[in-house]
Amino acid sequence: MTRGRFAPSPTGPLHFGSLVAAVASYCDARQRGGKWLLRIEDVDSTRTIKGASDDIMRTLAAYGFAWDGEVVYQSRRSALYQQVLQQLQARALAYACTCSRKEIADSSTRQGIEGAIYPGTCLRHAVAADTAAAWRLKTQAAPISFSDAIQGHQQHALASAIGDFVLKRADGVFSYQLAVVVDDALQGVTHIVRGADLLNSTTRQIYLQQLLGYPTPQYAHIPLVTNGDGQKLSKQTLAQALPADNVKATLIAALLFLQQTLPDNVDRYSVDAIWQWAISHWRLPQIPPVQHD
Ligand code: GLU
Ligand code: ZN
Repeated sequence: MTRGRFAPSPTGPLHFGSLVAAVASYCDARQRGGKWLLRIEDVDSTRTIKGASDDIMRTLAAYGFAWDGEVVYQSRRSALYQQVLQQLQARALAYACTCSRKEIADSSTRQGIEGAIYPGTCLRHAVAADTAAAWRLKTQAAPISFSDAIQGHQQHALASAIGDFVLKRADGVFSYQLAVVVDDALQGVTHIVRGADLLNSTTRQIYLQQLLGYPTPQYAHIPLVTNGDGQKLSKQTLAQALPADNVKATLIAALLFLQQTLPDNVDRYSVDAIWQWAISHWRLPQIPPVQHD
């Protein structure tokens, strides 16, 4: 049975970019006759905006999304993440790190795809794990690869492209990478459709899945919606909250962004009828890959 999911972070209201990701994962899961789960990724409480998760759910409902089962909140799942971290610690796959950002920047000699590579200082000089330490995962030189349903073959040698990445921060917050892998596995997610800003995270997530004996879902990363300046829509770029009163036109715009075909007289369709059409005519291969320049 297919299980898709939408996993918004409650850092603000849904905007057009998040709607596009929700529409794509919803149509994909429903066309496969599968379930579609909703998970609120509020693992980092320092970034959570009060009321945002309720607002997101109200907006999704207003746009006609129907999720299956109970909504999962990452903020209530720390015990699960801690258990998994302990497994990795017991197998000596994770190590404590007390380096500051500045120490890392000053001591790093290599650049990866996301900036300075952590040089493994604390791996060589083991630090006492009871001090306020972050926990990092040991990465490997061997490449991790996967085939993205939209972006095609992807591959990273994690040790040189990313470096040993954080599983739990020194302030006790579990990382997105750890939480998302645990939750996708425990929720039985089989198909992940999400924004291409997470494409570079996927090899980290697959590596964790392999270490933990979890299955790897199928991935499809959709192009990001950008503003006129080519920036990703986000709260930082002041993306507007989705309109509550213009559901039909906004839903149509999201399907058109995803290069889906619509009926000629779509303006006369109800929102329900648009969903039925969109799900039965959904074609993932029509979504163009991200252009690199
Ligand atoms: N919570 C993440 C975000 O809002 C999405 C995580 C995911 O889809 O894996 O960017
Ligand atoms: Zn360190």
